[in-house]
Amino acid sequence: MFVTLQRFNEKILAKLATFCIPLRGVKQGTDNYEFLLDDEFFREMESIDILGGAVKASVAVRRANEANYFSIHCQGTIQIVCDRCLEPMDYAVEANYDLAVKYGDEYDDSKDGVLIVPEGDNVLDVAPIVYDTVALCIPLQHVHAEGECDEATWQALQAHTAHGIDDELQEYGSYADDDSAAEDIDNETNIDPRWAELMKLKDNKLKNK
Ligand SMILES: [Zn+2]
Repeated sequence: MFVTLQRFNEKILAKLATFCIPLRGVKQGTDNYEFLLDDEFFREMESIDILGGAVKASVAVRRANEANYFSIHCQGTIQIVCDRCLEPMDYAVEANYDLAVKYGDEYDDSKDGVLIVPEGDNVLDVAPIVYDTVALCIPLQHVHAEGECDEATWQALQAHTAHGIDDELQEYGSYADDDSAAEDIDNETNIDPRWAELMKLKDNKLKNK
């Protein structure tokens, strides 16, 4: 069992290692890299919002004395959960992100567009950076195109909303007026009661399939 687990980890490490781009030891000028962000990639990134996808990430790196300048372009399709019917939906993404990578005393990503890495770092793992570039494309609200929702789930959700969720929402609202009480709501799991209801419904639906 241990051996299997170790092999599994090695496989994942090997896969993610392909996202490491050298910062030193390469001549000045511009190099281009291409990565495919597939279902496996999003699984390995332990993504909660993105179920899978096929996104091409092109990374151009211009190397100069004072910094490495990364220009990232991501384009493709991801699968996310529809807010309305809770079924997966395709979502087209396209985004650019420019990042200057400089050396400093310690790691510092507090400034947008500038990353400071310690002197000893010879490579940069761009996996989390391209992941964030894609994840930031997801709008706060996202639903299927008209007519493409799973109507059975939607009907069930609506029926539930009329009786259950509204009551809970009212309760939640009155709690929310009181700061101290609001903190008590599901503090351990930090789950919005409305979302918990939806997930329960979704679970039941899966079990009945
Ligand atoms: Zn939908």
